[in-house]
Amino acid sequence: QDTLAVSVRVAPLGSQLVLVLVEDRTEARRVDAVRRDFVANVSHELKTPVGALALLAEAVLSASDDPDAVRRFAGRMQKESHRLTNLVQDLIDLSRVQGDDPLAKAVPVDLGEVVSAARERVAEVAEARSIEIVAAGADGVAVLGDRGQLTTAVGNLVENAVNYSPDRTKVVVSVRVEGELAEVSVTDQGVGIPDQDLNRIFERFYRVDPARSRITGGTGLGLAIVKHIAATHGGDVSVWSVEGAGSTFTLRLPVAVQAPAAELHPTTPA
Ligand code: ADP
Repeated sequence: QDTLAVSVRVAPLGSQLVLVLVEDRTEARRVDAVRRDFVANVSHELKTPVGALALLAEAVLSASDDPDAVRRFAGRMQKESHRLTNLVQDLIDLSRVQGDDPLAKAVPVDLGEVVSAARERVAEVAEARSIEIVAAGADGVAVLGDRGQLTTAVGNLVENAVNYSPDRTKVVVSVRVEGELAEVSVTDQGVGIPDQDLNRIFERFYRVDPARSRITGGTGLGLAIVKHIAATHGGDVSVWSVEGAGSTFTLRLPVAVQAPAAELHPTTPA
């Protein structure tokens, strides 16, 4: 609910004069609350895999004469460490994109190259699960920005498409230009997203199905990172989804205006 928070300070200026300072603290209070929530969420998310690792280590120690059990526990320890690594990586990505203005040192970035790098990130997992990743659309489309951040954004979308799809399905990553905007769309034939969750999935730590997210090693931060990168690059990200049929995530970014070749290489009149 919207409540107004004010701080009032009174300073006597003389026998008949006082100075009254009224400051609107509403926004500062909101920022404090968001920060507290974030720290609480991070602590909770860290506690779960660390707690599981401690228990599993104990289990390994007490099952040392049963090699099968040791192998099983070690496998689960591997999964929990993977989750922990993902979480730390996403936290690093989030803090990096929040601290940087990518447009301050923007360079033209070719979206075809970004898509290739993003595909590479998931190639091994996709191949193991017979998920075909198809790249389609325009070549030579560039946007202004930070190559690493743009690869993170497209990579997170492609990674989700793979994570939330059954084996032997297809993911299509396409690039096209609509007026002054370049669009990168990632379409999957996966589980889809219920209508009531669509406008919450870009929130930090929001997951439609926490149990599934745990299996995939998801952190709930991927889409928040994509949203932030899109916004700081002057664009946005949107989603269209049908539950049980699949989803399309579309990243829209302003096309880099490229100087025509004639301007780059002026020809001297004969
Ligand atoms: P996570 O690390 O859990 O994948 P994200 O922030 O990337 O976190 O996504 C938030 C939630 O949105 C996911 O937990 C999942 O429920 C849903 N989601 C994201 N991408 C897809 C997709 N392509 N298909 C179905 N659900 C998705």
